[in-house]
Amino acid sequence: MAFEGLASKLQEAMKKLKGKGKLTEKDIKMAMREVKLALLEADVNFKVVKNFVKTVGEKCTGSEVMESLTPGQQVVKIVNDELSSLMGDESKEINLKANGISVIMLVGLQGAGKTTMGGKLATHLRKNNKRPLLVACDIYRPAAIKQLQVVGKSIDVPVFSMGDKVNPVDIAKAGIEHAKANDNNVVIIDTAGRLHIDEELMQELKDVKECVEPDEILLVVDSMTGQDAVNVATTFDELLNIDGVVLTKLDGDTRGGAALSIKAMTGKPIKFAGIGEKLNDLEVFHPDRMASRILGMGDVLSLIEKAQSAIDEKEAEELSNRMMNEEFNFEDYLSAMKQMKKLGPLGKIMEMVPGANKSMMGDLDMEASEKEMNRVEAMINSMTVAERRNPSLIKNSSSRKKRIARGSGVNVAAINKLLKGYEQSKKMMKQFKGMSKGVGKKASKGLFG
Ligand code: GDP
Repeated sequence: MAFEGLASKLQEAMKKLKGKGKLTEKDIKMAMREVKLALLEADVNFKVVKNFVKTVGEKCTGSEVMESLTPGQQVVKIVNDELSSLMGDESKEINLKANGISVIMLVGLQGAGKTTMGGKLATHLRKNNKRPLLVACDIYRPAAIKQLQVVGKSIDVPVFSMGDKVNPVDIAKAGIEHAKANDNNVVIIDTAGRLHIDEELMQELKDVKECVEPDEILLVVDSMTGQDAVNVATTFDELLNIDGVVLTKLDGDTRGGAALSIKAMTGKPIKFAGIGEKLNDLEVFHPDRMASRILGMGDVLSLIEKAQSAIDEKEAEELSNRMMNEEFNFEDYLSAMKQMKKLGPLGKIMEMVPGANKSMMGDLDMEASEKEMNRVEAMINSMTVAERRNPSLIKNSSSRKKRIARGSGVNVAAINKLLKGYEQSKKMMKQFKGMSKGVGKKASKGLFG
């Protein structure tokens, strides 16, 4: 999970305060020391940590907290608010023109995830009814152009390139002309990265900037590089005056130092976070929601948004109706699993559920649960349509069971287990239906009787 290390330490520090009826200054001091250590260990810039602890400490020793009935909760709220403010409080949109062609320039070091980000951003923009064009201006890294073309093809977004012999400034200019001629209204320029910042690279980026006058310069940094990412952001900002930062690989960042330092150190907001290698693994960065996640308070809003964009409402409703009417069969099982998968890996979903932090979940093994889901899917896929619709056909036929087991690479015991699970779910639905009827009756009696 992103920020796992930091989250568990901060939550530990907060837990000690939450249970107390009264807090002394010593309690606060001790807690602040733990918060400070947790942030430093997370590789947050030491100046940022110093300021953070000072502000939080002062607010916590104020009379509203000390005299309140729930001082521990107040402290948690203050830490939450300050974490959110450290990251910029509200999410910031990218600058796009209301009419005409908007130009976004992606800059950053090699390997930060720029090209991937081009694809993610194009996917995101298209969801918002834009018509993006990707422009390949990285003429140095071998295969960079090809990579962008592959990305573009996989999401069906056009890619403009002129090979690696033309100057990036000319490619960018021609790319915008191409967009005009082809009715694209957002141009995403993938620029060249280097292993380290060098003057030649910066000059080239300045030249492209001057020529195309981008609406948005987004710096892509790898969050796993911690303080290096912050240094890169500071330098790029000084030279190019960036508009915002994209933090990639947040899915593998257990510490969080870059996320918590960048806004404070550069004044520039983090606008997006990359949370995986796939092209829809992109999140709009919401500082307030991120703060809640770090403190184990979940992020219900993001979860709902994710569900809304991934789940087909009509399909979900039909499914739930079928389940309530006990008509459901293995085809419904499959479609339920498909809907779940659209939400993303289980581990990522659990991060957003309030209270479901690592310590609460104990050893719940997400990977194993996902593997089990795949196994069930394979078993159902090995059934005939008639069997899926009418599971009782399988129940009393050992030859059918054997055939399905062979087809899905499991043993007959696994098929029996699946059938048993199905029967149990059906029974549960029956009870649930009975219960909800009972509740309905009681409620109406209460109201009218
Ligand atoms: P570029 O050199 O800046 O264009 O970087 P690439 O787009 O080629 O990405 C470098 C590597 O990072 C690739 O293997 C990507 O799949 C991977 N990557 C990019 N973004 C993410 C992310 O958000 N999470 C993870 N886990 N990997 C990422």
